[in-house]
Amino acid sequence: MNIHQFDVVVVGAGGAGLMAGLYASRGAKTAVISKLYPTRSHTGAAQGGVAAALGNLEGDNPDWHTYDTVKGSDYLGDQDAIEFMCHEAPQAVIELENYGLPFDRTPDGRISQRPFGGHTNNETGKPVRRACHAADRTGHMILQTLYQQCLKNKVNFFDEYQVLDFIIVNGKAAGVVAVELATGELHTFHAKAIIFATGGHGRIFEVTSNAYAYTGDGAAILLRHGLPLQDMEFFQFHPTGIYKLGILITEGVRGEGGILINGKGERFMPKYAPTIKDLASRDVVSRAIYTEIREGRGVNGQNYVYLDVRPESVIKYAALDGRTNPDGTPYIVTGEQILKKLPDIIDFCRVYLGVDPLTQMMPIQPTAHYTMGGIPTNKYGEVVIDDKNTVLPGLYAAGECACVSVHGGNRLGCNSLLDIIVFGKHAGLKAAEYAKTADFEKLPDDAEAGSRSAFEALRNGSGKENAFDIGTEMKKVMFDDVGIYRNEKGMAEALEKVRALKERFKGVRVTDTGKIFNTELLNAWELGNMLEVAEVITVSALNRKESRGGHSREDCPNRDDKNWLKHTLVRKQNGEIKIDYKPVTITKYQPKERVY
Ligand SMILES: Cc1cc2nc3c(=O)[nH]c(=O)nc-3n(C[C@H](O)[C@H](O)[C@H](O)COP(=O)(O)OP(=O)(O)OC[C@H]3O[C@@H](n4cnc5c(N)ncnc54)[C@H](O)[C@@H]3O)c2cc1C
Repeated sequence: MNIHQFDVVVVGAGGAGLMAGLYASRGAKTAVISKLYPTRSHTGAAQGGVAAALGNLEGDNPDWHTYDTVKGSDYLGDQDAIEFMCHEAPQAVIELENYGLPFDRTPDGRISQRPFGGHTNNETGKPVRRACHAADRTGHMILQTLYQQCLKNKVNFFDEYQVLDFIIVNGKAAGVVAVELATGELHTFHAKAIIFATGGHGRIFEVTSNAYAYTGDGAAILLRHGLPLQDMEFFQFHPTGIYKLGILITEGVRGEGGILINGKGERFMPKYAPTIKDLASRDVVSRAIYTEIREGRGVNGQNYVYLDVRPESVIKYAALDGRTNPDGTPYIVTGEQILKKLPDIIDFCRVYLGVDPLTQMMPIQPTAHYTMGGIPTNKYGEVVIDDKNTVLPGLYAAGECACVSVHGGNRLGCNSLLDIIVFGKHAGLKAAEYAKTADFEKLPDDAEAGSRSAFEALRNGSGKENAFDIGTEMKKVMFDDVGIYRNEKGMAEALEKVRALKERFKGVRVTDTGKIFNTELLNAWELGNMLEVAEVITVSALNRKESRGGHSREDCPNRDDKNWLKHTLVRKQNGEIKIDYKPVTITKYQPKERVY
């Protein structure tokens, strides 16, 4: 057996995992395990920016950021955690800058900031420049910067090791089991503290902006151990994915003055959000686009609308909206300036669509983007397992796989890169502190037994089912029936279908039974994880009989604070799904009706 021992083991090398690894390594012997080479993690795809009320271009403060986040969450976010994150934000961004992150600059050398959906000046209600950005490659820069810092700090990396299982002994975290992709061999990592930072699960949907690796591994592993997941019904659809491909067109395009146009050539967002218009929060804009399409105002009768960032349109609508430069002069942009601020987006459209956004409008449709739900934690990244926030000793989670909950029913743009750096840091600090006094739990004689038998059963399956076909059916039913709009009938049918697919999955046969870089086998394994996650999402969504944030039910169109201002905790016990609830922490802001 291959056994490794570290004080702290981090699973995942995206922004959250690297930040956790960096901080843990300052106080404890730390390893970071990742199924991808670290700089290939999905954080690297983040475009628009990271939110922090630095106030570099106009008045702003962390309290406004807190209120916007509470409001954006449709009051389901825990306000103590939100306040904590928004107040830590300026320092966290400056820390990244000090590590060498090449942010764009203002003419006088400060970090440049752009407006982003839902971030406002609380006095005027107008968009505020709060998103700190490095062109439209902010996540890429965060990932590279943090990876360099981890190497400098001698964090131990196990790249291309995929974690299959979590080891729990005497009610405490004791390690994980992983398969080394290059050899197919199993490895046991014995640790005092484990931090899950495995990212999201958007690959369960047909059209998604998410990377292939977004298969919900961390969530599925803990679910199999009877541990709860929180608010899984809340999934965010980003309004602007490239038509059919799902590739993200950052909200930064609208931050730079881009607007949405329907098939009749009309700008439609003022109808749905009269004050903030095209920069309304994502759930609102996604539903608006979907409604336009459904009512026959898609372009050429198809399932898409246009996003227009041509300089002449930006100038025209800025004048109509009264948007000016910070010094009050008219807002004027050139194609060259847009190209400089959004180089990757323009490149994507030119390459994938043959459309030049500087002279043509981009065809877009909503795309599955971000999971608000996940492994429940407190604001220090400690995993909690019930409505009383009881901590499971030695287990931590941070980043998109976790639910703190700072995003509640709906995440504001640029708050996830913030979430990963703030909570990644605190999970790392807490885990190292815990490891100082905790002992290693004794491992069972064969800690790998469960993983080995499940993995070998899949490798040697003799059934007739094809994993790709099952995956395609799951993605379609989840996108169609547990997507932007939901209702009882559609979701009940989806649940039946997902359960039938789970049955069929038992008969999956992989054609490659080899050991070396067996990606077919690993993809099939990941499909098993996605099916688990899809099932609990559907059960949680069926159960929540209201509309809030990203969870929008045609049959229960209103938010219902009397009955549903509470978090869902979903878990599996003896094969049965069980739902409990946990109160929402409300400190300063009593729930108000949403005004758009
Ligand atoms: C296209 C796109 C653009 C975005 N733009 C923005 C933006 O501008 N601003 C913003 O705030 N947010 C943005 N987001 C959201 C944000 O980027 C993500 O939520 C965030 O980066 C997630 O970071 P993470 O560290 O949790 O996960 P990731 O960066 O995805 O890292 C997950 C890690 O877990 C590892 N892993 C997973 N499963 C296993 C396993 N079984 N074994 C071992 N390792 C495993 C992977 O190898 C990877 O290293 C965007 C998201 C997308 C998809």
